[in-house]
Amino acid sequence: MTKIAIIGAGMAGLTAARFLKDYAEVTIFEKSGSVSGRMATRRSDPYSFDHGTQFFGAKTNEFKTFIAPMIKSGILKPWDARFVEIENTNIVQSRNWADSYPHYVGEPTMNTVGKFLSKNLKVNLKIRIQSIKKVGEQWCLLTENSESLGFFDWVLLAIPGAQAADILPSSIPLRENISKIKMDGCFSVMLGFLEPLPIEFDAALVRSSDISWISINSSKPGREGPFSMLAHSTNNWAVANSNIERGEALNYLCSQISQTIGHDVTKADHKGIHQWMYANTKKHGDLTHFIDQSKCIGVCGDWVIQGRVESAFTSGFKLAQDVLGTF
Ligand SMILES: Cc1cc2nc3c(=O)[nH]c(=O)nc-3n(C[C@H](O)[C@H](O)[C@H](O)COP(=O)(O)OP(=O)(O)OC[C@H]3O[C@@H](n4cnc5c(N)ncnc54)[C@H](O)[C@@H]3O)c2cc1C
Repeated sequence: MTKIAIIGAGMAGLTAARFLKDYAEVTIFEKSGSVSGRMATRRSDPYSFDHGTQFFGAKTNEFKTFIAPMIKSGILKPWDARFVEIENTNIVQSRNWADSYPHYVGEPTMNTVGKFLSKNLKVNLKIRIQSIKKVGEQWCLLTENSESLGFFDWVLLAIPGAQAADILPSSIPLRENISKIKMDGCFSVMLGFLEPLPIEFDAALVRSSDISWISINSSKPGREGPFSMLAHSTNNWAVANSNIERGEALNYLCSQISQTIGHDVTKADHKGIHQWMYANTKKHGDLTHFIDQSKCIGVCGDWVIQGRVESAFTSGFKLAQDVLGTF
């Protein structure tokens, strides 16, 4: 059977793996301790925070079909949030998501989605791929310690573009185009309160601030634990302050959140911050993935299309279809 290595166990890598697993021997390598990538959840007892993806929509029939088993088994639920838009600390728009298309979240946590998708797949966690090299007709994957992880007929990189460009040998022509697609960073602020704050929304898009998003994480379906709040900085602020000390970033962003919602969050019972170096990318053209059939290498991820979960799915799905076309 054709042996395929997939680097990265986020939505794109897991999607590609699921579509290829019946036709090839697929092995996934993931650098972190769990699957799901930026569809992430962080626990800090008694709180839990989805500090990456907040929710996602499903527009294409392919994605709707793909997520249907997760809806059926109850691990994807619509989040019927009271949604507002805030401009200069004023609520300028409000609506209930129950009245529009479904805004899906994993239940009880966002990373449940990746866990579900990784079932029956061969996933090697806590292995960071440092480089790949061609040996004869096959690819050899190497760790940071130059340890070989075996030989594969195909390698699919399902990781952010900048990280893919670092791994790809310079002899691969598509490396140049991949390096051109930039991703922006983001800071996520996680706040826990033993007593709920009197907030009249569950999710807020924020403008004219260094904060872009505030949500009440504990308002999502099936969340246990006390009142929890999650906020994102703007991409611009994160890029301009990428070397800031974490404590300084947390204090500044908490002051911005307090100003936006009119409640002092600096006194939260739990405060945490996470910096995403590769969080988001703006919408590009019609490209969905990169593939070099002659070299048996492919690259996918949301960043090829747009920083959305559905884009990550589409990218992984289209790459898998192209790879299958070569069998
Ligand atoms: C703060 C934030 C908020 C967001 N909000 C939303 C939202 O509300 N709605 C929405 O639709 N989308 C949102 N997104 C975007 C969404 O999370 C992504 O589109 C999607 O999760 C990307 O999936 P992916 O598989 O392409 O990449 P990732 O999820 O990044 O997966 C890549 C995986 O590769 C692993 N990896 C990287 N390098 C290596 C290596 N060398 N070796 C081994 N493994 C490696 C990483 O650990 C990671 O698990 C958000 C993202 C962030 C960061």
